[in-house]
Amino acid sequence: MYYVIKGHDFIDETVSVLMIFYPNDKYIQSESTAEGITLVSTFDGNTAKAQLYIEGALKAEDSEIAENSHRSEIKRVVGLSIAMAVNSIMNISLPWGILTGVRPAKLISEGWNEGKATDEITKELNKKYLVSLEKLRLMTEVAEEEKKIVESGRGKIGLYIGIPFCPTRCLYCSFTSYPLKQYSAKVDSYLDCLIREMEFTRQFTDSRELESIYIGGGTPTSLDEAQLDRLLSAVENNFGIPEEYTVEAGRPDTLTREKLRILKSHNVTRISINPQTLNDSTLELIGREHTTAMFLNAFEMAREEGHDHINTDIILGLPGEGEREVINTMEGLVRLSPESITVHTLAVKRASRLKETLEKYSMTSACDMEKYIDISRGYTEKMGMRPYYMYRQKNMVGNFENVGYCKENCQCIYNVQIMEEKQSIIALGAGASTKTVDPATDQIERIFNVKSVDDYITRIDEMLDRKKALKSML
Ligand code: SF4
Repeated sequence: MYYVIKGHDFIDETVSVLMIFYPNDKYIQSESTAEGITLVSTFDGNTAKAQLYIEGALKAEDSEIAENSHRSEIKRVVGLSIAMAVNSIMNISLPWGILTGVRPAKLISEGWNEGKATDEITKELNKKYLVSLEKLRLMTEVAEEEKKIVESGRGKIGLYIGIPFCPTRCLYCSFTSYPLKQYSAKVDSYLDCLIREMEFTRQFTDSRELESIYIGGGTPTSLDEAQLDRLLSAVENNFGIPEEYTVEAGRPDTLTREKLRILKSHNVTRISINPQTLNDSTLELIGREHTTAMFLNAFEMAREEGHDHINTDIILGLPGEGEREVINTMEGLVRLSPESITVHTLAVKRASRLKETLEKYSMTSACDMEKYIDISRGYTEKMGMRPYYMYRQKNMVGNFENVGYCKENCQCIYNVQIMEEKQSIIALGAGASTKTVDPATDQIERIFNVKSVDDYITRIDEMLDRKKALKSML
């Protein structure tokens, strides 16, 4: 599909609204309306206008007047005019309206901080961004849960440690993740550097109360038993054991009873074992190299080894999955009764194998995805869970959301703090990005580590040098 832009430069906004309607298309900037489907978006200093042409003929249009000349307001009316024009033909449900951005619940908490009442905030989001009442309810529920955690974590810090290795690369993955088949020889050198980064960083964090540690990746339990023990000992020696200590044990094919014992012996308080689906044919299709039986066995072993806070991640809308598969996955999770479940909707990310081979798969429609979200929510309610954190990504099928549900007092503090951005989170390892927050102004500053494992190992001195900025940032 083509788009023509005049009088503004909101290319990302234009494309992200078009993606709600034409999710699998290619978007080509053009000067002409003669070919195929073309959207023309103009802003004349006061009014945003969108016109939709099909093979040169005007089929729909809409105009929206900006309330002021702020860039954010112009961006909003540009997006709104496009959505209104296209939807006058498509007529699809827009649960999130034209709202973009990763952290929708933050809009509610920001409104509260400005002294607004919930009703006032939600009415405005509904009117200006067309967010549905159902999503506004979800945003409010999540914001209320997040508020409690944010307030109790004031003045404390969090720590993230990245282990960017996995047994194989999943079809949909766009994370920094290196398949162990090629990278196993580099794991020890990576750990050497990571431990150096821990030892160097502790001088800046020593005086601050650590609220949570999150070891993610990749799959940290891809490390062998001795490496895992070495990593966790170094974490403990440098930072101690905080109130919450999570290790992603994501891929069941990496877990052994001994690794689960090691996690427990180092006082890890929360692990995440992620099936993504409990349907074997899908697991094979997405390249997970484990079966449902392996997941069930890993979960049972974790319980036997005393892990009493286990999260499970699932993905809705995986290729080939319909209502039956979603119900099967949720029924299986009900039987296991994890403490929390994170329900993702599939995102087709640019750096994934899925994006490269998309034409091979038939993707879930927005309408079906809405049904699957409702089904999963129904099951989490049955398990006594409530939504407590949420985020959205670009290129999500149907433009929905990812939601973390948990039983009472089983929230993941780290997940909330990273979403609300009111706490400094120090991040170590390849691809890690440290984020500090000034408590007086909420201003955020970042320190980035290099992404690739090879660069991280060869440039570790430079990474330590970058961390020196923490002296003035914390
Ligand atoms: S387990 Fe997670 S990080 Fe590893 S390849 Fe799969 S999606 Fe990527």
